[in-house]
Amino acid sequence: MSQKILISACLLGQPVRYNGRGLSLESQLLDLWKEKGLLVPICPEVEGGFPTPRPPAEIEPNMAGTDVLDHGARVKDVTGADVTDGFVAGARIAVRAALDAGCRFAILTDGSPSCGSVRIYSGRHDGEKREGIGVVTAALRQAGIEVFAQHQLKELALRLEH
Ligand code: SF4
Repeated sequence: MSQKILISACLLGQPVRYNGRGLSLESQLLDLWKEKGLLVPICPEVEGGFPTPRPPAEIEPNMAGTDVLDHGARVKDVTGADVTDGFVAGARIAVRAALDAGCRFAILTDGSPSCGSVRIYSGRHDGEKREGIGVVTAALRQAGIEVFAQHQLKELALRLEH
């Protein structure tokens, strides 16, 4: 059974975030999976056609990621522009990439309106967070792929052992 893992490209330091930067995630587990060639990096927002840097975007208040896909909630950037279509396009590309690579698991950057899987920003661009998931997480879960946040690598390691 495939052990390939889709991963948010910014977690590997790629400078694809809205602010033009990457993240640095120190983890022996991640190093091991990287050495084994298990990681499949992708930035869904870049794939969806957004430039880097780009204005930060949030999912409308009181709407979780699944609602963006199923119930018409919108993603808006800090200027008020509706960027939903690009987010959904990026999510579809991420699902295709995961399925093509045989990924059953994903590690995504929590807090992002695309990649969040535990908490996301409020939707009011006020710096507050709430429980919720991003558009990519929703799409991957609908496709049967298990999504973990970057602070849940030990949980993923346990899943990989089975
Ligand atoms: Fe990282 Fe995901 Fe945002 Fe791309 S869309 S910068 S991979 S959190």
